[in-house]
Amino acid sequence: MKYTQLNNGVLMPLVGIGTWNLRNEECIETVSKAIQLGYRLIDTAQMYGNEKEVGLGILKSRIDRQELFVTTKIYRISNSYEKAKKAIDISLKNLQLDYIDLLLLHEPYVQGPQMYKALEEAYKEGKIKAIGISNYDEKWYQNFIKECSIIPAINQVEAHINFQKWELQEILEQHGTLMQAWSPLAQGIGNIFKNSTLVFIGKKYNKSPAQIALRFLVQRGIAVIPKSSKESRLMENIDIFDFKLTHEDIETIKQLDKNRTLFSWTESF
Ligand code: NDP
Repeated sequence: MKYTQLNNGVLMPLVGIGTWNLRNEECIETVSKAIQLGYRLIDTAQMYGNEKEVGLGILKSRIDRQELFVTTKIYRISNSYEKAKKAIDISLKNLQLDYIDLLLLHEPYVQGPQMYKALEEAYKEGKIKAIGISNYDEKWYQNFIKECSIIPAINQVEAHINFQKWELQEILEQHGTLMQAWSPLAQGIGNIFKNSTLVFIGKKYNKSPAQIALRFLVQRGIAVIPKSSKESRLMENIDIFDFKLTHEDIETIKQLDKNRTLFSWTESF
């Protein structure tokens, strides 16, 4: 696994497994399997309702805790400083962990700054190793960083070949926040696994369209958290570090950018 360094020096795997729609036994098994296959980052959230199963999957894998990087997120039901403080302890309990590697505000909220204050305190207490935000566009981000005392380590946002977010990435980088891509495979929408550009480029390197789509992000320095519950795809999605896209490949993939979201719920922020 390859790592990137966050703005506080913490190392974070560039590829992790997303768990958004994994539930019950399937979640436990998939998390445990992914760790066995070499995944070292697990992405969950209180909103997904599967933190307990993620925790059980981690236990089942018997991995040394220090080798693992666990991300979770708190959301709008914890929309005050006090509620956010409690939510952090709930996540720790659900996950059966004594610290969380990365805790994010799931979406931009008007009460985000006070929720984030609870994250900053927990960070200083050592309950969380890094803190950040998710789904913040340029405007929300610029306003947010004026109000916080610790610059978010991560902004986890929708990013994939159809929504490439070059400008946001540049702004985040200027301030020391790393972009992490959710739905890096666009959930398969638009037949991305058969996309002719990705197929063509993939043939040069003997890689699948999914691997080209993920490599495109990772090579730009964007961390990715693709979800799969299938062993062969889990393996495929981390096998992206033994080749390099050329400048020409990148320019060709840039042409696929439609520069708009695939998910209407994100437009409400
Ligand atoms: P992804 O872009 O990761 O796509 C997942 C889909 O692609 C699944 O249907 C999976 O099917 C399929 N797939 C995975 N790998 C391959 C492959 N190599 N070849 C063909 N098909 C493949 O979508 P997600 O929306 O799940 O995003 C990833 C993660 O991001 C989420 O699980 C969640 O953790 C996080 N997220 C965060 C959000 C936020 O607001 N912060 C919002 C949305 C997601 P199968 O399982 O059958 O392999």
